[in-house]
Order: sequence, then C-alpha cells, then structure tokens
Amino acid sequence: MTTQKCKYRDCKEKAVSLSEFCWRHIENKDAYRDNLLEYIKKNNSIKEFYLRRVEIPHFDFVDVDCQNVDLSSCNLAGTNFSGADMRHCNLAHANLKSAYLDNADLSEAHLSGCDLSGARLWHADLKDANLAEANLSGADLLNANLSLVKFWNASIKGAKLLTKHNFALSKKFFNRYAIDEKGPISAAEGYRSLKQYFMSVGRYDDASWASFKEKQMQRRKLLREGNIAYIPSLFMALMCGYGEKPYRVILFSIAVIFSYALVYFTTAAIDIPLKTVGFWDYLYFSIVTFTTLGFGDITPKLIPFFQMLTGTEAFLGAFMIGLFVFTLARKYSAR
Ligand SMILES: [Zn+2]
Repeated sequence: MTTQKCKYRDCKEKAVSLSEFCWRHIENKDAYRDNLLEYIKKNNSIKEFYLRRVEIPHFDFVDVDCQNVDLSSCNLAGTNFSGADMRHCNLAHANLKSAYLDNADLSEAHLSGCDLSGARLWHADLKDANLAEANLSGADLLNANLSLVKFWNASIKGAKLLTKHNFALSKKFFNRYAIDEKGPISAAEGYRSLKQYFMSVGRYDDASWASFKEKQMQRRKLLREGNIAYIPSLFMALMCGYGEKPYRVILFSIAVIFSYALVYFTTAAIDIPLKTVGFWDYLYFSIVTFTTLGFGDITPKLIPFFQMLTGTEAFLGAFMIGLFVFTLARKYSAR
C-alpha cells in the first residue's frame, strides 16, 4: 500500500493507511478506529499498512494478516493478536503491554524497544526477531520460539516460563540453542542476562548453557581482535567447556593419554627386559603415568628427555583429575 504525506499544512509525517492525515492530525480518532475495524472485518488483512503512532488499545486482530505492517510507536496495550501473521512487522517502541500474541507469527519482526510486559506469547514464533532493548518483564513465554533473536539489553526480569528450550534451533535429536550471534559483544551481553535470569529462577542447567555461550562469544571477540588471550580461552573450552562440561574433561584426558602413548611409542621411551614391547605397553605406561599410579613395573629409559616427558604427563594427569572433580561439582551441585 502506497502512502502519501499528511495533508495537514506542512506536516512532514506520512499519512496513515485509510486516511489522508498522520495520526496526530486525524481529527476524529474514534471514527478512524471504527473505519479500521470495519476494514479488518471485511478483508481480514492489513498487509503492508502504515499505522505509525496509531492508538488502538484492546483491538482485535485475531488471525489477521498483518505482514509488513508498520505499527511502530503504536499503543497496542491489551490488543489481541492471537494467531496473527505478523512476519516482518515493525513494532519498534510499540506499547504491547498485556497484549495477547498466542500462536502469532512474529518471525523477523522488529520489536526493539517494544514494551511486552505482561504480554502472553504462548507458542508465538519470534525466530530472527529483533528484541533489542525490549521489555519482556512478566511476559508469559510458554513454548515461544526465540531462536536467533537479537537480545541486546532486553529486559527479562520476571519473565515467565523462559527456558533454554525457547532458543532451540531445531527439534531434531541433536539440539542446538542460540540467540543471534552476529555481533559477539552484544551476543555475550544477551547470554549474560539470560544466565542471570536462569540463576535467579533456579534453572542451573540452563544457566550453565548461557554461561558457556557467554564465554564462547567472548572468545570469538578475542579472535576478531587478534588478542593472544584467545589461545588460553580456546584451551579452557576444549579442556572443560569453561567448567560447564565435565565430559569434555574425560575426552581431553583420553586424548592426552593417547597422545603421550604415541610419543612414547615413536621415541621408544621405555624398554622392558625379556619382552617385546608393543603399543599396548606404551598405552599402559601412559595410563599409569597420567593417573600418577606409578607402579614402577615399567619405567622410562634413564634419559633426561624421557624422564621430563613422563613428569609433564603426571603433572597434567593430576591437574585434569582435579579439574574433573571441580567441573562436576560446579555443574551438578546447587549454586
Ligand atoms: Zn500530520
């Protein structure tokens, strides 16, 4: 729908759809509301409408086609958008307090600075939506899809039923959960506020996910800056997932044991009298050293290089075992 300029004197605003004036200069606003209601009833669509600043609280848009509608800065408090198609809708700075958005399709909608406090968003689809600086306090987010949303400075204090599953990218066997990660700084900020939210409601497992993601974003920022601190950060990620993934400690330990066994094998670091030494012996020696068991049934050749090598493995082993206990306690005990 093409829009022209407001006809009022030299007003620079665009005229809203179904009128020759901008919202401020429409004289009979009640008549305009009635007219709009009539239009919706007849067409069940306001696709591409321009309705900036319009005040239509407690309106009924159930199942209405609202694609690409400009509803920025509108007063839509308590409005019912259940099942409405609101893809690519511009709702920036709109007032959607206590609005009903059940099953609404808000994918790629622009919701920055929008007030969704106390709104109901059951099963709403907000994939790829922009929620920067949006107010979601007290919003009911049961099964709402928030995957890949821009989450910078969004207020989620007191939001209801928000879990990491709101951010699931697919419902397949191997699930991934994420917000928009194009900017590592704003993504880290978004994950940090999610972590704080999950901690405050006692969802420690979800907090663990958000915490890991936050650190991952910080690492990505270090990489972009070419900061040398990226390397220790990468190591922490591989070794223990920043203290959030105990299974990574086990995988990393197995990798260390095999790597050392391979080094011992290629350099022939041990020899056992009266026996042909096979790879199994090197692996066994590596396990005994890593766990600092130190039976002494197999010892390294008495050459400083091999002695130092076994020393580093024993040190790494003791460190990794400590790290495993720490990670396990951190992840599974109440914080
Ligand atoms: Zn005007």
